Amino acid sequence: MRKKISRQKFKAIYKYKKCNNYLLMSDFSMLIIAWYEQNGRDLPWRNINDSYKIWVSEVILQQTRVDQGRDYYLRFISRFPTVGALADAEEEEVLKHWQGLGYYSRARNLHYASKQVMTDFKGVFPTDYDDVMKLKGIGAYTAAAIVSFAHNRPYAVVDGNVYRVLSRYFAIDAPIDSAKGKKMFFELAQELLDKKQAGIYNQAIMDFGALQCVPSNPDCNGCVLKDSCLSFGNDEVRKYPVKSKKTKVSNRYFNYLYIVNGEFTYLQKRTKNDIWKNLYEFPLIESSRLYETEDLSRLALFSETVGVDVLKISAPVKHVLSHQCIFTKFYTVAISDESVLFKDFIKIPILDLDKYPVSRLMEMYLEKTTR
Ligand code: SF4
Repeated sequence: MRKKISRQKFKAIYKYKKCNNYLLMSDFSMLIIAWYEQNGRDLPWRNINDSYKIWVSEVILQQTRVDQGRDYYLRFISRFPTVGALADAEEEEVLKHWQGLGYYSRARNLHYASKQVMTDFKGVFPTDYDDVMKLKGIGAYTAAAIVSFAHNRPYAVVDGNVYRVLSRYFAIDAPIDSAKGKKMFFELAQELLDKKQAGIYNQAIMDFGALQCVPSNPDCNGCVLKDSCLSFGNDEVRKYPVKSKKTKVSNRYFNYLYIVNGEFTYLQKRTKNDIWKNLYEFPLIESSRLYETEDLSRLALFSETVGVDVLKISAPVKHVLSHQCIFTKFYTVAISDESVLFKDFIKIPILDLDKYPVSRLMEMYLEKTTR
């Protein structure tokens, strides 16, 4: 269970900010809900109490924009309409339906957790916050979203939108990526929550952040909270939310071999604990820089296999993930003899390439070249 902060401590936040015209908490939630009733988005996972569908939508939306996520959600739910249907599916099919969304561990966790629901909760999605938290991949935010949206349970959600609204409205300097800051925001959000309308309030403040208190150039003059918004009053909107550290991004260099052997090509499955685990890809040589044409001749494939031709080398592609920047080239190579070097790869008809779950990077390449 989350700890609540005392009303005294909550008021201290205002005192510290020397804010004399703050709204009562009930006024804050009332204004946010009133705004939502006029402006809230009509989304397929709204106004339902099916925890499973809400869970799927929340996981999809964790790193994906709503307009893009909507189609994925509809396709995913159409194929896996219940938690049982998801639990019964093969992981490879689940990954295929996730293809393009990225962050594939989310799909693997969804699949794993659906099996937990079947075994640990007799196939019924739990309604209790602490039980929901036992499911793999579900953290405080997702658990709060599921139980509040589906069952109006009094748990506040704190996502990027909520951090932004609260940090600006209350002009909170605590970095949102620090443990201290996170704790403070969670406590404040829980205190502000309209306990009787938890589901509506949570959706309202998330939409308010997504549509009104947007990251760049929010329309503060047209905002229902402008009279009591501290950062607007102090002309400091751009200062919030505060972050303490920049995400460290590392560079990687992927040289992919698209090997054409008549009507066939070769794939490998990524099995290590790395990005794109359990997805398929062309044979990969990862190096400290991208290969030039002359580097290819030094590869065992070229020195130990007869009848090898380099047909094409793609332009370098830069693929940006949250913590990694992948620089890639695809080398289309024709072989006339099957080499012993390929024994570890899966030989498939080129026409079957789209049956395998692949990364967005591979998918974009295949869209351009083989379709
Ligand atoms: S006044 Fe501006 S910064 Fe303040 S809550 Fe409204 S949109 Fe956000």
